[in-house]
Amino acid sequence: MQGRAAKPKSVCVVGGGVVGGFVAYLLAREGVEVSLLERNRLGSGASGASAGNVQTLSNGFQGFHKELGQESLGLYRRLLPSIKDESRVDPMDHEVRYLYAAMDEEQATAIQAEELQLVEDGMKAQWIDGQRARELEPRLSPRLLGGLLHSDCIQMDGTRLVNALGRAAQERGAYVAGSEVAGLELDGDRVTGVRRVDGTVLRADMVVTAMGAWTGPAISDWLGVSLPILPQSLQKIHLLTGDQPLECAVRWDGINMVSRRDGLTHIGSKRDGFGFDAHPTEEGRRWLLEHAATVFPGLEARVAEAWAGCAVATPEAFPVLGPLEGHQGICVATPSSNGFLLAPALAEILTSFLMKGEEHPLMEEMLPGRAVMRARGLTDPYGSAHETR
Ligand SMILES: Cc1cc2nc3c(=O)[nH]c(=O)nc-3n(C[C@H](O)[C@H](O)[C@H](O)COP(=O)(O)OP(=O)(O)OC[C@H]3O[C@@H](n4cnc5c(N)ncnc54)[C@H](O)[C@@H]3O)c2cc1C
Repeated sequence: MQGRAAKPKSVCVVGGGVVGGFVAYLLAREGVEVSLLERNRLGSGASGASAGNVQTLSNGFQGFHKELGQESLGLYRRLLPSIKDESRVDPMDHEVRYLYAAMDEEQATAIQAEELQLVEDGMKAQWIDGQRARELEPRLSPRLLGGLLHSDCIQMDGTRLVNALGRAAQERGAYVAGSEVAGLELDGDRVTGVRRVDGTVLRADMVVTAMGAWTGPAISDWLGVSLPILPQSLQKIHLLTGDQPLECAVRWDGINMVSRRDGLTHIGSKRDGFGFDAHPTEEGRRWLLEHAATVFPGLEARVAEAWAGCAVATPEAFPVLGPLEGHQGICVATPSSNGFLLAPALAEILTSFLMKGEEHPLMEEMLPGRAVMRARGLTDPYGSAHETR
């Protein structure tokens, strides 16, 4: 990695999603002069559309993703009390149990094969059979053979969390503004600030791009650097299930269903193509409802709202984090498909790097240059590694 520049006194974070929110908050806690710029409302990108699952097995049961996910879960548990306290915003967080459901023998064998290692790794996950699952949640299908019940998960409202982060950062002195960034200010290869659409310039020792799915085109336009970060359009629905929330959340065949504290139940996601054209469709709604009805045939519910959002797709679902090679004064902070889970870990890793020069052991794998190499080496870099949500 290129050498770290001097510790920045001022940082401009572009993009007010969950990643930008955590970066701004953690840097503000370190006493840095932080600006957080969001062109719409805080949380108006993928973060607000998200299911809000902090679910560490969501992108694979082993390896890098699980390790980073566990670290992030620990940070959520450590930071949420102070975020809520300082912001006085309730992100509507609550503990949930996730059942990785098996509806046939093949699925059951695949899921059971993971159990031993997960238990050895200290994860709160165990296989339960269909009968035990239906004792937990009687509306589950009689066809369900069983599933891996994972207990160490949190769910919350994405928009509320990002607002809490923005408010808590402000309480720590951050400047939070609704402005769109149109470009970067450059002095040779050094980024010295951002230029907003109204023409005003904001100088900073460091710019952090946390623009989610919009990072790729922006970095390409502003610096002529091509990063393998694509927008991935996802559809979801919220169901009204009366006063009977699901007793356990369920993941099966590319969907997850989880009841929220406000009484709505999230069902997501129908994965559409790569691109910025994210909108709910009749086909998406039907697909989601059919999947839900397979797992919960007796569920009495009506659709309250349908949404679509632009999540991020990166090669093999690795986040892209750290300084941009060939330039100074700029870092990228883009998660992968499970960015809601990963945001605090990415923010903490970046903060330690900027403030203390510490390189986290997992950082090497996430450097922008690694993403470019990974994309080159794979025939379908955005393929199977991405779980639908
Ligand atoms: C339906 C759905 C369900 C999901 N469920 C989960 C889940 O349960 N768990 C999980 O871990 N992940 C989930 N995800 C993925 C997760 O939501 C994203 O990975 C994460 O929210 C990305 O956060 P972000 O801050 O990088 O991007 P975003 O939240 O998209 O934020 C980027 C922000 O940058 C702003 N911006 C862009 N360009 C500019 C500019 N030029 N100037 C100023 N601002 C700009 C945008 O307006 C946007 O608000 C889901 C995604 C979707 C769509």
